[in-house]
Amino acid sequence: MKVTDYFASAKGQTLISFEVLPPLKGGKMQSIFDVLDPLMEFKPPFIDVTYHREEYVYQKSPNGYYEKTSIRKRPGTVGICAAIMHRYGVDAVPHLICGGFTKEDTENALIDLNFLNINNVLAIRGDARQFDGRFIPEEGGHSYAVDLVKQISAMNRGQYLDSNIENGAQTNFCIGIAGYPEKHFEAPNFQTDLRHTKEKIDAGADYIVTQMFFDNKKYFEYVKACQESGIDIPIVPGLKPLTKSYQLKSLPRMFYVNMPDDLVREAEKLKNEKDAKELGIEWCIAQSRELKAAGAPCLHYYTMGDTDTIRRIAKAVY
Ligand code: FAD
Repeated sequence: MKVTDYFASAKGQTLISFEVLPPLKGGKMQSIFDVLDPLMEFKPPFIDVTYHREEYVYQKSPNGYYEKTSIRKRPGTVGICAAIMHRYGVDAVPHLICGGFTKEDTENALIDLNFLNINNVLAIRGDARQFDGRFIPEEGGHSYAVDLVKQISAMNRGQYLDSNIENGAQTNFCIGIAGYPEKHFEAPNFQTDLRHTKEKIDAGADYIVTQMFFDNKKYFEYVKACQESGIDIPIVPGLKPLTKSYQLKSLPRMFYVNMPDDLVREAEKLKNEKDAKELGIEWCIAQSRELKAAGAPCLHYYTMGDTDTIRRIAKAVY
């Protein structure tokens, strides 16, 4: 079933969903089940699985010099999606990125997903690789998520890259995209970013999942700004609890989000890491309750492998 059909059939109820990361190469599928098994009691209709592009690493060669090589540390997104659907009978949403993919690679990946009966994707650009400094698309690949959305929409109409294909099978992908209540860090300003988000919707995107935020005001203002720009698709808040005191500084640096002053002041009073985690959980519960009361279509939790924390929050909210 499509993610947007779940929203429509929820009749105003706030659904719950989770996002998991593939394990590091060499890891086991069981590690994903260990994260998800305790969360299934909350009945998420869909689960997202992130996609990770190859990264540059420096490895010592036999001659003693360090050489720059490119490796994919977290492969397995599509296989994990299939395994999740098989084990839990829920829908899986693979993230599909522009980085590292030619248009043909993308087409072939979409064909695989379609054959596996995976009808939902989150279409995103991906970030710059370490040492690249800026996002560099694959030669013959897409530069922006909007181009990826256009390609998926074309396949939904039965149009493939090879124009000789006539009567191509129409796929039926529901397309999610990323949205940024506090603006994407590369955008010159909020309105420009919103304009680019609207382009993705005009190209066929069906719903938005937001970057994490810690101040609900940012989400409410974002939803309002979207509506004023003619964006009328569901906007799912993405939530991540603070679990370590250093994240007060690292999360803003990594995800370009602001920490609300109340949260920072509370955190500054704490004496140990246990209290910092408790504060983070309580904060996320309060955020979740307010978003739910305001009628958010779904609360989407970035698990980052921390099942116990997410479970505590979900138990308090659902
Ligand atoms: P885009 O929509 O392409 O936007 C990127 C920037 O370009 C923005 O500043 C935008 O304003 C600008 N822009 C867009 N279109 C144009 C245009 N036509 N001309 C000029 N400028 C334009 N990353 C991963 O690698 N794997 C994942 O699994 C993953 N999952 C994510 C899930 C969510 C919910 C979110 C919020 C992010 C996720 N990311 C993931 C991170 C994401 O890849 C980065 O945030 C990336 O920098 C931008 O992706 P995007 O799809 O928003 O890009």
